[in-house]
Amino acid sequence: MRTVAEGYGLHIDRGGMTLCPFHDERTPSAKIYPDNLHCFGCGAHVDVIGFTQKMFGLVGAIDAVKKLNDDYGLHIDIGKAPTAEEVSEYQKRVQEKMSMKYGRSRLGEHLTITCG
Ligand SMILES: [Zn+2]
Repeated sequence: MRTVAEGYGLHIDRGGMTLCPFHDERTPSAKIYPDNLHCFGCGAHVDVIGFTQKMFGLVGAIDAVKKLNDDYGLHIDIGKAPTAEEVSEYQKRVQEKMSMKYGRSRLGEHLTITCG
């Protein structure tokens, strides 16, 4: 979760707190947990896929999975709408990949390119 959040531009402090990307605020009230983000300000509660969905205004979980797949090179084969189990399987893979492979700087560069 943390890697994805940072990859998409959130700054997370030592306590795991970050400015909530889903409402306007000056002091961090969103907390990053290992597998989700919870905002004490607006009540947003999302996992990695929900987070990506919300950040980029994507309609379905599958679009978020696709985006994560592209951005993080997960090599997930996406040809059809996934079942709930598949989604959680993807999610697991995302998190495993996240924690292993990618450094902050690379994601930072990518973010600049993506968001222009
Ligand atoms: Zn919020």
